[in-house]
Parts: sequence; structure tokens; C-alpha cells
Amino acid sequence: MRIKFFKTAVLLLFLVLAGCSMQNINRTQLPKPKVRNIILFIGDGMGVAQVYAGMTVSTHTLSLESFPFAGLSKTYSSNNYITDSAAGGTAIACGVKTKNGMIGMGPDSAVVSSIVEIAHKNGLATGVLSTSTLTHATPASFIAHNSGRGNYEDIAKDFLNGTVDVLIGGGEDHFRKRADSTDLTVKFKEQGYDVVYNLDDLKNSGSLKIAGFLAKEHMLKSNEGRSGMLAEMTRKAIETLSKDKDGFFMMVEGSMIDWGAHEKNFDYTAAEVIDLDNAIAVAKEFAGKNGETLIVVTADHETGGLTLVSGNIQEHKVTGNFIQTGSHTAVMVPIFSYGPSAEIFSGIHENTFFLNGFLNLLNIKR
Ligand code: MG
Ligand code: ZN
Repeated sequence: MRIKFFKTAVLLLFLVLAGCSMQNINRTQLPKPKVRNIILFIGDGMGVAQVYAGMTVSTHTLSLESFPFAGLSKTYSSNNYITDSAAGGTAIACGVKTKNGMIGMGPDSAVVSSIVEIAHKNGLATGVLSTSTLTHATPASFIAHNSGRGNYEDIAKDFLNGTVDVLIGGGEDHFRKRADSTDLTVKFKEQGYDVVYNLDDLKNSGSLKIAGFLAKEHMLKSNEGRSGMLAEMTRKAIETLSKDKDGFFMMVEGSMIDWGAHEKNFDYTAAEVIDLDNAIAVAKEFAGKNGETLIVVTADHETGGLTLVSGNIQEHKVTGNFIQTGSHTAVMVPIFSYGPSAEIFSGIHENTFFLNGFLNLLNIKR
């Protein structure tokens, strides 16, 4: 009886110890999933009210709602409590607060490297997609270095610096109808890019390097003929960039959430949020299968001071008011994240936080 008790006690002790060490193994030795790819979405001007407007108006549940982590970003620039898209884009892309109007530079005009440039240097494939001209402030912040966001033709030249493998958006004229009479698409072709001008040719391209100019200037509004195109652009970019075994970084901008809000046009704004979400859904489908892809969705600033003053969830109806000026505001903007290490984006962050977060997760250096 005693011996039996002793044996049982020893056995129990063994099981408890074994259980402890198993737990330790689980905690310390199971590797965290690696982040091989990062897909960053920027909704220009997309505050929490813009997101909720899209969620309410949409007849389907937005992909964003299934993201497990949310945080907030402080958007002020180096010289203004209220940022513009140049300083906001530069903060996200390059990790520095700069003056409004400046692209890829610190406030002292010193050039700073962007996540696209650093990713490229480390062997990752890179992409930049936008519904505005590619030379506009947000996409430009990832590629170009210029003290003036309006220097579109100079900014276009920076897209030939070889750091971006897939660029898709509007702005053909800034590359081809230029004051210096050079057709930059000739140089893109010399560098091995497939240059395409419509969605069908884009989809059919088998090239690892693609320059897609889908409009002479900005692309159409989503509710005036562009609907769904950003999702297709995103699908093609993922298909192309994911062929790189070293991984990829890409940025996708929904540019016109900002413009709808500047116009104080509620339907325009909400439609652009939903259109961006359609592109996010494409990325999430890929990331869900891939397992090593992090998706981060944020904004450079809020536009229009939008408030939602009445609505009906069942009827997908909502009324919103914008501030009189329809200009940018200083409110913090949301961050949504999905995938490995997505939790680091929860909480409150400076907009300069993204770059170091991305570099650490990708395990690459400047
Ligand atoms: Mg923009
Ligand atoms: Zn704006």
C-alpha cells in the first residue's frame, strides 16, 4: 500500500515536471512565424469616422472588421500640428517627421531612405500602387526625394532609381508628356519593365517588373468607373512580387478617401473606403494562405473632420457632417493589423513608428 502510494506519488511528480518542461518548450522553442512579406495599405484621409461610414454603407462586412488588432497613430508633422500627405507619407515610409510639403527628406532637406529603398537593398521585391498619379505625395514618399511635393516631373524621374519592381497607378503624363520632352517609359523598358496602360495588359503581364500607368492623370473615382480596379491591381502586384523568394514589401494607397472628404462629399468618401477594403480583402486572402505575410492598414491623416450624426445599420444608411473647410485635421488615425507579429501595431504610436517596426519584423537593416 505504501509502496503503491510512493509509486503513484513519483509518477505524479514525474508527470507534473514533464508537463512543466513541455510548457517551457512550448514557450521558448516554438518559433514565432516569420514575417516574409508586408503589405501596407494607406487610406489617405481615412479616420475612424470614414471607416465606420464605409462599414455602415457597405452591404457586406468589410474585411477590415476581421483584423484582430487595432491601434492609433499620431500624425502631426515637424512644423505643423496638422500634417499634409507629403509629411504624413514621409513619416510612414521613411520614419522621420518632416515639414509639410516635403517628400522623402528630413526638415533639413537631408535625404532619408524609405522602406521601399531599404527592402530593395536587402533583396526583397517591392511595389507601390495608388489610385492617384504615382507622383502624388503618398506614393512619392516611398520612392522620391524632393523638397516640393508639386515637382511631379522631377518626382517621376525618381521612379527610375531601380528600387521599385511593380508600380501601378495614374500619372502617365508626368512620365511621358514632360517639359524636358523625355519619355521615361523608354527608360523603364530599357531597365526591363513591362510598361502597360490598361488593366487587361496588366493582368496578362508575366514580367517581374511592371510599370502600369492606368490613367493619364489620376484614375477615375470608384463610383465613376474605377470600382474594383485597386483590388485587381493589388492581386496582380501580389502575384508578381510573391515570386521573389526573399519576400516583398508593397504599399497600396486608396488616394481618394481624402478627396471625397475635401469635397465634403459623403457618398464619394464612403465608396472609396469600401473600394480600398476590396483591395484589403485580396491581400488578406493571400496572407491567410501564406502565413508569413503581415498586413497593416492605416492613414496619413484624417480629412474633413467627419462626424456621423445619424444612421441605420439595417438599412446601411448614415448621415455625416464635415467641417466647413473640409481640410485635414489633427485627430489620431486608426491602424489595423493582421498576420504574424500584428500585435506590435496595437496601442498608440507616432507615425514614424512604422518604419522601424517593418525593418525589425523583416529582419533587415538600413
Ligand atoms: Mg495621397
Ligand atoms: Zn488632403
